[in-house]
Amino acid sequence: MSDEAIWDELDWRMQDGSGERLNRGRIIERNLARLRGFVCETMRHGRLCIAGDAAHIVPPSVAKGLNLAVGDARVMAEAFRRCIQSGDTSVLEAYTAICLRRIWPTVHWSCSMSEAFPRLSWPVRL
Ligand SMILES: Cc1cc2nc3c(=O)[nH]c(=O)nc-3n(C[C@H](O)[C@H](O)[C@H](O)COP(=O)(O)OP(=O)(O)OC[C@H]3O[C@@H](n4cnc5c(N)ncnc54)[C@H](O)[C@@H]3O)c2cc1C
Repeated sequence: MSDEAIWDELDWRMQDGSGERLNRGRIIERNLARLRGFVCETMRHGRLCIAGDAAHIVPPSVAKGLNLAVGDARVMAEAFRRCIQSGDTSVLEAYTAICLRRIWPTVHWSCSMSEAFPRLSWPVRL
C-alpha cells in the first residue's frame, strides 16, 4: 500500500462522525507482525528453568504475554525459595507442569481470538 492508501484506510477506520481527520505525515517504518503461538514443552532442565517469551510466545493481539511471564516468575520464585530454605525440590520438579496448566489454555485462547478478530471486529468497507 502507498502511504496515502494507508492514511486513507486509517482515516476511514477512525471516523467517529465528527468530520475530523487525522494529521498525516511520512510513514517512517513498515513491519509485518508475525502472529504465532509457540510453547517449549519442557521449561526446566535440572536446576535450569526458562520463563516468559523464552518458553512461550502468544500472539500479541490479546495481550497475555507479560501476564504469562509474570506467572512463570512467581512459580519459579516459590520453587527457588523452597529449594534454598528447606531443600524441598517438589515445586522445582513440578515447575513445567504447573506453568503449562496455565500456558496452554492461554495460548489456545490467544490463537483463537487472533483468528476471530479480523472477521468479527474489523469494519468492512462496502
Ligand atoms: C507489540 C507488542 C505488544 C505487546 N503487548 C502486550 C500487552 O499489552 N500485554 C501483555 O501482557 N503482553 C504484551 N506483549 C508481550 C510481552 O511484551 C512479552 O510477553 C513480555 O515482555 C515477555 O517478558 P520476558 O521477560 O519473557 O521477555 P522480555 O520482556 O523480552 O525481556 C527479555 C530481556 O532480556 C534481555 N536480553 C536478551 N538477550 C540478552 C542477553 N544475551 N543478555 C542479557 N539480556 C538479554 C532483553 O533485552 C530484554 O530486556 C506485547 C508484545 C509485543 C511485541
